[in-house]
Amino acid sequence: MFQYIYLSVKENAHSPVRRLLPLMLAAALLLPSLPVCAEEEKTSETGFFLDTVITITLYGDTDSTAMNGCFDLLDEYENMLSRTVEGSDVWNVNHSGGEPTEVSEETAYLIETALYYSELSDGAFDITITPLVELWDVQSKASQVSEGETTEEALASGLIPSDEEIEEALLHIDYTTVSCEGTTVTLSDPDAEIDLGGIAKGYIADCLEEYLLSAGIESALINLGGNVQTVGTKPDGSSWKIGIQKPFGGSSDIITVVECTGESVVTSGTYERYFEVDGIIYHHILDPNTGYPADNGLVSVTILADSSTICDALSTTCFVLGLEDGLDLIESIDGVEALFITEDETMYRTSGFPED
Ligand code: AMP
Ligand code: MG
Repeated sequence: MFQYIYLSVKENAHSPVRRLLPLMLAAALLLPSLPVCAEEEKTSETGFFLDTVITITLYGDTDSTAMNGCFDLLDEYENMLSRTVEGSDVWNVNHSGGEPTEVSEETAYLIETALYYSELSDGAFDITITPLVELWDVQSKASQVSEGETTEEALASGLIPSDEEIEEALLHIDYTTVSCEGTTVTLSDPDAEIDLGGIAKGYIADCLEEYLLSAGIESALINLGGNVQTVGTKPDGSSWKIGIQKPFGGSSDIITVVECTGESVVTSGTYERYFEVDGIIYHHILDPNTGYPADNGLVSVTILADSSTICDALSTTCFVLGLEDGLDLIESIDGVEALFITEDETMYRTSGFPED
C-alpha cells in the first residue's frame, strides 16, 4: 500500500494562517522567486504515491469531497500502475512468465500510448526498461554512496553496475516484445518487465484534472513530483504562473516561468533522482541504447501541452534523444512546446515555448 503523509492547510478567514497573512506577505516579498498567492482561499494536501511527493491545491470554498476524491484516485492508480505493488496490472504482466495477462482498459491505453512514443523515438522511450531501472536503483544508491568514494570503489562495491551486468540487462530491453490486444498484454520475452514510471504520473494528472472539472472545481493545481497540471485559471481569472526549477537549485529557485490556463508542464531532470561518484552524476533517465543514464549534456527537459500524459512521455523521450533530436521531434508535433536546459544552464526553447 502507499504511504500517505497528511499535511492539510485549509486557509479561511478564521485560520491562524489568515491572521498571519501580513507577516507572511512581507516575508514573501523579500523572496522574489516565490509565488505570492496568499489572498486566495485554498486547501492543499500532500501525499506520497508512485515514489513521488504529490500536492493537490484546490482554490475557492471547497468541502473535503473533491480532495478526498483525488486521493482515492491516486490510491486506485497506484494499485493499478505501480510496478512494485503486488497484484497491480503492471505487477501481473511482469509476473506472467510471458502468458497473456488481462489488464484494465486504462492500463491498456497507457501501454499502447507508451508504445506509440517508443516507435516515434525509435526506442529512446522504452517501458521494458525495468532491468536497468532495478540494476541502477538510483534512489537507494543515493543513500548508499559515501563521501569521496572513487569510481573504482563504486564499481567494486556494486554501486555502479559492471559492463557485464548492463549487457545482461540490455538483452531484455526491447519494446517490440510487448503486445497489447484490447485489454490483453503479452510479453514475448518472458524475462522482460515493464515500468510505466516515465508516463504514469502524466496520465494520473490528466485523470485528476478531469475528475476535478467534473466535480465543479474551476481552479486547482496538481503537482505530481514535477508533473504540474493546472486546472482552469487562478480564481481571479488570470493565468497560472508555473516556475521551472533551476537544475540542482532548491524548489523555490526558479529559472523561468510559464503561464498556463489548464495546460500541463512536465519536467524530466537529472537532479530529480541521482547519485554522484567522482563528480559524475548517475541519474534515473536511462538510455536503452547504452544501458547508462542518458549522458548528452542535458540536465532537464520541460514539456508544455494540454495533455499531461503526452508531456510526461515526451519529457522522458526528449531527455534520452538529446537536444537536437529532441528539438526536432517537438517542432514536428502540433500543440507541444519544450524547453531544454544544458549542463551550462543554457536554455533552448522550441519556437512556441514562451519567453520570459
Ligand atoms: P520521468 O521522470 O518522467 O522522466 O521518468 C523517469 C522514470 O521513467 C524512471 O524513474 C524510470 O522509471 C523510467 N524510465 C527511465 N528511463 C526510461 C526510458 N528510456 N524510457 C521509458 N521509461 C524510462
Ligand atoms: Mg516522463
